[in-house]
Amino acid sequence: MTTGTAQSVFDVLAHATPIGPSSGDHLLTPDERRVLLQFEDLVHRGRLSYYEVGRALIAIRDGRLYREGYRSIGEFCVERLAICQSRCYQLMTAVGVADQLGATIGVRPTKEAHVRLLLPYALVDQIAIWREVVARSAGTKVTGTLIRGVIREITAGHCSLAIRFVQAEHRMSCADWTWNPVTGCLRGCDYCAARQLAGDCPETAGHGFVPAFHPERLSAPRHMGEPTTRSTAGGRVLVSPLGDILGDWVPDEWVNAVVETMREAPAWTFLVQTKNPARLTTITWPENVWVGATVDRQVRVIPTLEAFCAVLATVKYIACTPLLELVTMPSFTGVDWLHISEQYAAGIVPDRQPAWRWVASLLGQAEEAGCPVSCSWGLHVWPMQGPMTGCGGYVKGAMNR
Ligand code: SF4
Repeated sequence: MTTGTAQSVFDVLAHATPIGPSSGDHLLTPDERRVLLQFEDLVHRGRLSYYEVGRALIAIRDGRLYREGYRSIGEFCVERLAICQSRCYQLMTAVGVADQLGATIGVRPTKEAHVRLLLPYALVDQIAIWREVVARSAGTKVTGTLIRGVIREITAGHCSLAIRFVQAEHRMSCADWTWNPVTGCLRGCDYCAARQLAGDCPETAGHGFVPAFHPERLSAPRHMGEPTTRSTAGGRVLVSPLGDILGDWVPDEWVNAVVETMREAPAWTFLVQTKNPARLTTITWPENVWVGATVDRQVRVIPTLEAFCAVLATVKYIACTPLLELVTMPSFTGVDWLHISEQYAAGIVPDRQPAWRWVASLLGQAEEAGCPVSCSWGLHVWPMQGPMTGCGGYVKGAMNR
């Protein structure tokens, strides 16, 4: 394996010439190929900081250096670097924030953990927090404790920071934003990526994965204004992805407060997803809320269909996230949209693609029933192994409602 210093690889990648999507040239130059190999080697040997990896990934993405064999930077990361897609986008997001803070304040956060503490806040607020942190550290080492302390003071009202939705870390197929007024879950699914994320995630505010209510976040929709939609998912907000907001253990008061907040923000479309579909039927949903039920296995199908028959909502969707076995739908009555995804790596559970025949079966059933379907961007068994190669991200336009 060719080797190179982190700096030289980083420099070459950073100066890669951007290539537009319309370019027909998918072949890399020998230099580009060599530097990608060096980068791959350095990543595998753990020789790069989060910043170097993230910056290089941004350069690879912008220069489309993944193009010889991969459809996206995410796919390149999975195949070549053994980095899952969500981690890839997490790194690029962290570097974007670090660069912005460095350019504005003159001091860049050196640790990814420090950047992640700032992610729940809007850029203007990240800058205010970081400015205060840098001032208080007075040239000494910045610590997570110091950052948390500044954030605590600010959110306690000593300064006025606006709490907002959080930009989805990676290109989620259904929403550009996430909002976690309730976090945590007691269900214990072994593939739960949320539980893994919750550990040191600022959005759980020190509660880990224990169910918690964050009432201060109810102000987020007010601080967001109107959605400025650049993608079809620009006005969509995934509610409480770091838990199950409709778990039986969640008090009615928490749920009611969130529902009323969503009702008062009609410009936004909120997606509420649960593994407890029966509870969907106990709530009067505002028009701007789509309700979803997770169906990872066959056993969840009937409770979901029964609940969907009883619940009134603008859109009712089934999310096979992840699809873990062959699922047969006796009917699609009441189902407005079906979403299929792979399993993300979490804990000791590895990334896992569903068998193609499971996906093909569901696609066929949905098509016959006229139910729109979307597939996650990470679902590699589709369309590569399917009959619809070249269709892009979606089978039908459910997401364009
Ligand atoms: S229901 Fe969702 S949040 Fe709860 S443990 Fe299972 S995957 Fe995680």
